[in-house]
Amino acid sequence: MIKKDNTSSKVNAPRQEVKKRKIKNSSKKNELNSPLLLVVNKKHPLPSDYNPYHGDVSGNNSNGTGLKPEVNEAKKKMITAMRQKGFPISDNVSGYRSYEYQKSLYDNYVQESGQQQADTFSARPGYSDHQTSLAFDLLGTNGQLPTDDNMYSWLQNNAYKYGFIIRFPRGETKSTGYIGEEWHIRYIGVKFATEMHDKKITTLEKLTHISGGDYNSNKNDDIQALSEQKKISN
Ligand SMILES: [Zn+2]
Repeated sequence: MIKKDNTSSKVNAPRQEVKKRKIKNSSKKNELNSPLLLVVNKKHPLPSDYNPYHGDVSGNNSNGTGLKPEVNEAKKKMITAMRQKGFPISDNVSGYRSYEYQKSLYDNYVQESGQQQADTFSARPGYSDHQTSLAFDLLGTNGQLPTDDNMYSWLQNNAYKYGFIIRFPRGETKSTGYIGEEWHIRYIGVKFATEMHDKKITTLEKLTHISGGDYNSNKNDDIQALSEQKKISN
């Protein structure tokens, strides 16, 4: 449904016209405005006080508090399924992260590795998908972030059944702004996740046509994630 319009008359139309029609022709115009499709990335930050489910602001909410309740429920089901498949996954996750907590994490990484390196794997405060209340990192029973090809492919083939996607798939840094993180799971609901799976749409940025990739060199070019979402419905 978010198809490119390839008919010849549109190809020849002025650029802005094409854009307009593309959105008009998409029956998903309003659907894409679903709060489940909130895109927070290096160009789209959240307000520092965004905490819709009242997660603890000083930690990573490992038991799922701060997540949208339906996300927490789906998370439990998927972890159970993963365990049944033999993956050593913990009940604990690294879940909702407040602006304050993200700031302390990021500052630590910058101290350890320098800002340039830190930016490849840790979000600056306000730019973290973890602040959406829709995302979490899986943890292994050993307490480490699980990276494993079998788990990666299991998630690619099955996470959608629970409403999840791998938010930062391998090889999609240009789109998402991050190196592959198969442990970082994002809820978008079964309907959208199934669509992405079936149509092989690899990133949330590609589904929503919201820009991603690296940080803007000037912060003033950022667009608030919440207002970008409203824009889609206009
Ligand atoms: Zn994460």
